[in-house]
Amino acid sequence: MRPPSARRRRRAAVGHAFAGRAVRPISMQITFRGAAGEVTGSLHELNTRRLRLLLDCGAFQGSGVAVALKNRETVPDAESVDGVFLSHGHLDHCGRLPQLYRDGFRGPIFCTPATADVAVVMLEDAARIAAERAPDDAPAPFTRADVAGVEALMEPLEPGRWHRLSSDLSVRFSPAGHILGAAICELKVRDAGEDRRVVYAADLGRRGLPLIPDPVQVPGCDVLLVESTYADSVHPAVEEIIEELATIVGDVIARGGRVIVPAFSIGRTQLLAWLLNELIATDRVPAVPIFVDSPLAHRITALYRRHAEAVRAERRSLFQRNTEEAFPNVQCVRRRIDSIALNDVDRPCVIIAGGGMCEGGRVLYHLRHALEDERNAVLLVSYQAPETLGRRLASAAPSVRIFDRNCPVRATVHQLHGLSAHADALDFKWWFEGLADEGGIGQAFVVHGEGPAADTQAQLLQPYCDEDPVVPQHGETWEV
Ligand SMILES: [Zn+2]
Repeated sequence: MRPPSARRRRRAAVGHAFAGRAVRPISMQITFRGAAGEVTGSLHELNTRRLRLLLDCGAFQGSGVAVALKNRETVPDAESVDGVFLSHGHLDHCGRLPQLYRDGFRGPIFCTPATADVAVVMLEDAARIAAERAPDDAPAPFTRADVAGVEALMEPLEPGRWHRLSSDLSVRFSPAGHILGAAICELKVRDAGEDRRVVYAADLGRRGLPLIPDPVQVPGCDVLLVESTYADSVHPAVEEIIEELATIVGDVIARGGRVIVPAFSIGRTQLLAWLLNELIATDRVPAVPIFVDSPLAHRITALYRRHAEAVRAERRSLFQRNTEEAFPNVQCVRRRIDSIALNDVDRPCVIIAGGGMCEGGRVLYHLRHALEDERNAVLLVSYQAPETLGRRLASAAPSVRIFDRNCPVRATVHQLHGLSAHADALDFKWWFEGLADEGGIGQAFVVHGEGPAADTQAQLLQPYCDEDPVVPQHGETWEV
């Protein structure tokens, strides 16, 4: 890599959306087609003189027609895209791949082996939900057939080493922490005789979480794209959070209630199940059954078994045993009839159920059943977006509407911050120092964060970069 002083100094916003392959950039260009000034919809287009590449192809999340319309758009001339680099299997990073396929893309999708499997499971579930929700007179935006098309394009690459994809393109995926299979994507691009290093940290995880390996530091680069979800916060220490979890669950058990935990099926569900099982095993919480009520979560947990390489080394053996043996206090609920039967459990218990922001999934039935009883508790462990049932619960609404029924909220509602799978300001600083120690950063772009978090990230980055960090706007194209 060239020393920072030799880097080209002129970098400017082109200021118009890139119009497709007909216009060849005179140097490398990046167009931001999602997760610019917001958290969801990650999709960044990288154009060199010879290559047209995408970094992620994620869905915008939220309800409403405007969001649905945004998800119908990918890139102009999708069939001319040479390849996609996929960071991980969360839908806000892979959810527009079926649309890209529909738009004619047939190139390779490079990712880690675990990400290939996670993304397909998540997309299949999204296709099922889309089919259920589609009105009778309108087709679902995509189907399982489109997901099968995407699956056939997946090119899993072993993480931790360089892969030469062509004479002018190499890639290395390194652990990003975050979720099973998530990777930092490093590209070496040869453009007009010049070698450029591009690093994409789509979602960077926390250090020290129990199940997933820590993110790794990578050498410096000419161009950095980095997320900023929690760049303006500092999470409590993991041990503090575990202590808080033990107190909340212990109190509810003591008063004879049940704890409802709405959780996303990948990452948080497995983490919570592991933590609660540990707390019971070490007598920090009385032994009560922990029900994991989410068929999707069980499919994802099976991937922890298949992809031991993506699990923290000291926990690998845990997932090699069957769930009942490895997690003796955890009971898997698969069939709907068994989910309904949980209403009749007449002793304290914990129910971890699908539906992280309480906008759908089985958790709605458990909330409807549990909210009116003051012995019960709701434990929110994820970010709750505005306008969601989870956000209303978090803001102490006296009653909420579930399935056209008004439910008074008598159960206590707790928010456990810091079980997040996202780096905080301290994690970012540590990671930037890694880049700075080995070559520094040329130009940084801050994505995947709301306004204040993205601005804070730009300030955090400033000392490590040759140029002022940029917080790009949606649709903007930058020369790099
Ligand atoms: Zn993610």
